[in-house]
Amino acid sequence: MENKSILVVGGGISGITAAVEAAEVGCQVFLVEKNAYLGGKVTQINEYFPKMCPPNCGLEINFQRIKKNPKITVLTLAEVENISGAAGNFDVNIKLNPRYVQDQCTACQECVEVCTTERANDFNFGVDNTKAIYLPHPFAFPMKYVVDIDAFKGNEAAELAAACKHDLIDLEMEATTMKVNVGAIIWATGWSSYDIKNLSNYGGGRFENAISNIMMERLAAITGPTGGKILRPSDDGEPQNIAFVQCAGSRDEHHQKACSSVCCMATLKQVNYIRKQYPDAKITIYFMDIRAMGKHEDYYQQVLEKNVKLIKGKPSEIKEDATSKNLLVLSEDQFTQEIATLEYDLLVLATGMEPATAADNIPVEFKYDVDGFAINGVTTPGIYAAGCTRKPGDVASSVQDATAAVLKAIQSTTGRGGEHE
Ligand SMILES: Cc1cc2nc3c(=O)[nH]c(=O)nc-3n(C[C@H](O)[C@H](O)[C@H](O)COP(=O)(O)OP(=O)(O)OC[C@H]3O[C@@H](n4cnc5c(N)ncnc54)[C@H](O)[C@@H]3O)c2cc1C
Repeated sequence: MENKSILVVGGGISGITAAVEAAEVGCQVFLVEKNAYLGGKVTQINEYFPKMCPPNCGLEINFQRIKKNPKITVLTLAEVENISGAAGNFDVNIKLNPRYVQDQCTACQECVEVCTTERANDFNFGVDNTKAIYLPHPFAFPMKYVVDIDAFKGNEAAELAAACKHDLIDLEMEATTMKVNVGAIIWATGWSSYDIKNLSNYGGGRFENAISNIMMERLAAITGPTGGKILRPSDDGEPQNIAFVQCAGSRDEHHQKACSSVCCMATLKQVNYIRKQYPDAKITIYFMDIRAMGKHEDYYQQVLEKNVKLIKGKPSEIKEDATSKNLLVLSEDQFTQEIATLEYDLLVLATGMEPATAADNIPVEFKYDVDGFAINGVTTPGIYAAGCTRKPGDVASSVQDATAAVLKAIQSTTGRGGEHE
């Protein structure tokens, strides 16, 4: 018998798209997200190209579609434990981790005011702290608090529970397992930024003022650790001479082979972030080729008009001035054959996307490429990778990919499945 229910794993833009598209054509959908909120990396981006609007705009429309659709069950703080069965009939165990705050929480904030314990804010990559009971970010969906139980010492957690006048903090909550039976599975666990600690030759993880491009998104965001002011991490100074290093750990046989396809555009938009705050700052981009494809070419040309210096070449060495904490970048300009060491007060490493599946595989037999991106259509019919689990890409291409995966998933539940490649 046809089983038209679909499990979507990963609640980023790809998983959200898959969930709403499938539910709106009548499928029962379970959307499993390991974080306490939906939206994935898009929630951490300041503005997104091509429209340069805040990510909440696009996400909010999707959250409304989810809220209105009774066919979607959203499971946050959830992870798939195991999968058995075959296309049309998968049995899946889902672990539901405790939030320690009941669903009726209205985010009134009174508990936060009472709470004195703090924890590193993972939404801002640990640069600042939140209270141990916290909203993951100001636009979190669902808008519900969560408790970091491990952050508490002594009796602090119990005192916090007593502070909720609605009695909604429940520190006795335990992880539970939910079993679902679905016809098909879409795996959309997305990506992480390639760890700059692997790029120690570029000062990643060693020099405070060598940051990743995703950290630049948080520095520029009003919800970020500096309230949207781009400041040097070492001294909170206003940077006036900034360099970007493209393909930092990408298109490189010692790191990731793939081009992440968004880093050039991310850098170009980050040039705009800097220009808005520091109109006279010097900006340099070290690049191999600028990949601003199709309609993005116009954006690239507009940014070039903003007094940006381009150096064709990869830095061979980056050192730090011990006193100023400035970065000294040695490189050859392949156009002029000039070798020079130039000094910058902030360096942005344009790191690419490492798929979540590089470390956390789909718990069935599945094929991956050399960087860990999942390859559809080789093993296990009925399970389809989508979005940045399958290939690095921007939001538009991830949305398209997720929609295509839904079509294949629906076909597979009826035994007419093709392959999504
Ligand atoms: C610096 C930078 C800037 C960018 N700027 C733009 C831009 O301006 N415009 C644009 O179009 N694109 C931009 N992008 C690309 C954009 O971020 C991606 O296209 C988008 O995040 C892809 O969404 P996704 O859902 O595939 O993955 P993700 O956003 O990574 O979402 C995956 C979700 O799966 C969850 N998850 C992971 N593992 C599990 C698990 N085991 N179980 C359950 N859930 C799990 C994660 O918590 C996350 O919520 C940028 C990328 C970078 C690196």
